[in-house]
Amino acid sequence: MTADPRKIQLLMALRNGGVRDRRVLEAIEKVPRELFVEDSFLDQAYADQALPIDCGQTISQPFIVGFMTDRLQVSDRHTVLEIGTGSGYQTTILSALCRRVCTIERYRTLARQAAERFKQLHLNNVTQIVADGTRGWPQLAPFERIIVTAAAKEVPKALLDQLAPGGILVIPIEERPGKQDLYRITRTPEGHAREHLLPVRFVPLVEGLAREG
Ligand code: SAH
Repeated sequence: MTADPRKIQLLMALRNGGVRDRRVLEAIEKVPRELFVEDSFLDQAYADQALPIDCGQTISQPFIVGFMTDRLQVSDRHTVLEIGTGSGYQTTILSALCRRVCTIERYRTLARQAAERFKQLHLNNVTQIVADGTRGWPQLAPFERIIVTAAAKEVPKALLDQLAPGGILVIPIEERPGKQDLYRITRTPEGHAREHLLPVRFVPLVEGLAREG
C-alpha cells in the first residue's frame, strides 16, 4: 500500500466516483503520474485535475482516466487501441491491464516524449505510431477495446469498423460546441449499442497529422 497521503486521497476520490475495478485502482496506484507531468506542475501530479502538456494538449484528470478504463472492462487477453497518446499516462495504465496497447498520436513531439517514458518504465506491450487516429489502425485491427481520449464531433466510422464482435469503444462526443459527453459503444450482433456515461471536457479530436514548427 502506498504511503503518500495525496495518492491515498486520490484513490479514495476515484472509488467514491464509481471506479470500482480493483485492478484499475491498483494500476493507478502503481503508475507514477509525476513522470508524465511538466516539471512546473510536479506538486499537482496527484491532484484530481487535467494538466497542460506540450503542443497545447492536456494529460487527462486521473478520475477520468480511471473511469474510462473501468468502463472499458479490459482483460489481460485484450488488444486495446488508444487514440490520443498525449503524455502516455492513459497508455501506461492500460498496458498494466491488457495484452497489448496500440496507441496513436498526431503530434510527433508528444509521441517521442511518451516513447521515452514507456522505455523508462520498461513497458514491453505498447506499440505506437504518429498518425491520424480517426482512421484507426487497419493493419492491426480488429481490437477488443478502443479508447479515444480526445472529443470527436461524431464517432469515426473506421473505429466502429475496427471493433471486434462484442468489443467496447469508449469515446467523448461533442454534439454541439461546449457540450461533451462520454459514451460507451458495444458492438452487438445487430450493430452497435450506445450508452451515455457522463459529461466530460477533452481537447478536440483533430483530423490529419499535426504541423509542427
Ligand atoms: N491520453 C492522454 C490524453 C492526451 S489529450 C494522456 O493520458 O495524457 C488528447 C490527445 O489526443 C492529444 O495529445 C492530441 O494531440 C491527440 N489527438 C487529437 N486528435 C488526434 C487524432 N486525430 N489522432 C491522434 N491523436 C489525436
